[in-house]
Amino acid sequence: MADHQKRFEGIVRNLKGHGYKITPQRLAIIGILAKSDGHPSVESIYDQIKGAFPTMSLATVYRNIVLIKSLGEVLELGFPDGSNRYDGNKPYPHPHVICIKCKKIVDPHLESLDQMKKEVSSETNFKILNHRLDFFGICGDCLEENNE
Ligand SMILES: [Zn+2]
Ligand SMILES: [Zn+2]
Repeated sequence: MADHQKRFEGIVRNLKGHGYKITPQRLAIIGILAKSDGHPSVESIYDQIKGAFPTMSLATVYRNIVLIKSLGEVLELGFPDGSNRYDGNKPYPHPHVICIKCKKIVDPHLESLDQMKKEVSSETNFKILNHRLDFFGICGDCLEENNE
């Protein structure tokens, strides 16, 4: 899990470099963003740390995430139902697979992504700067549950 540790240290360094104080609450939030593969929501981050910081509010967690996002250290995935999820492991555009039942979000590794970008670019004459590529489906766990 060296990468997670590197991400954690990188986010802390960036905050410090911009003159932000590193409070224990902030460290806990950064820890979850950097170390979880599951693309947590603000609510799930709050649930994971409210035991350790009983006086902290959901709004504080949200404000910290907005700050970390403003430094480019977390990718926000917004959804039409208003539920945002966050990826602090890969703060750059990348494809996602989303389970419509349990809302699990996974990062697939797509060999064809670069090719796809080239195709879009040559077909539209756009210089591609960014992308958002979401696949929706039903994950293996949820499929199994259905079959029981
Ligand atoms: Zn599922
Ligand atoms: Zn992701």
